[in-house]
Amino acid sequence: MRSADDWLSLLQGVPDPEIPVLNIVEMGIVRSVTCSHESVQVDITPTYMGCPAMDAIAYDIRTQLTPLASLEGRGLTVELVYAPAWTTDWLSDGAKAKLEAYGIAPPGKTTDKRALSGEAPSVRCPKCKSGKTELVSLFGSTACKAHYRCNDCSEPFDHFKCI
Ligand SMILES: [Zn+2]
Repeated sequence: MRSADDWLSLLQGVPDPEIPVLNIVEMGIVRSVTCSHESVQVDITPTYMGCPAMDAIAYDIRTQLTPLASLEGRGLTVELVYAPAWTTDWLSDGAKAKLEAYGIAPPGKTTDKRALSGEAPSVRCPKCKSGKTELVSLFGSTACKAHYRCNDCSEPFDHFKCI
């Protein structure tokens, strides 16, 4: 019978629907796995409020793990946990490095709240690492990202907003 750690390893095989280079464990979406002899419960926390991806994530977890749980005679449930609220600080350093390699400027620390007050934070270009970037739109390809352009290499890119 698989342990909670085993299930956590399996969950690392579930990609974030919006950022496929990251899995839902690296994103900090998976809060915990609780096992009993009859059941496996996965607690997940939504990232940005209103991010439509949570339904897709819960669906992916059920689709991939329910058959495995059934083989062990266990039921699998996915619970949404809203407190404490997810913050970008839950992204691991490794996850931030992957984001940048993927072409998305990673979020800074949430102590830098300027992005929320409307003042553009300094964001590093993920391609040439220049700090001379400008905010094009507060909403990029999804509501979770702001759209930027680099003034040095002209590369347009998304910045994962800091919350
Ligand atoms: Zn650049």
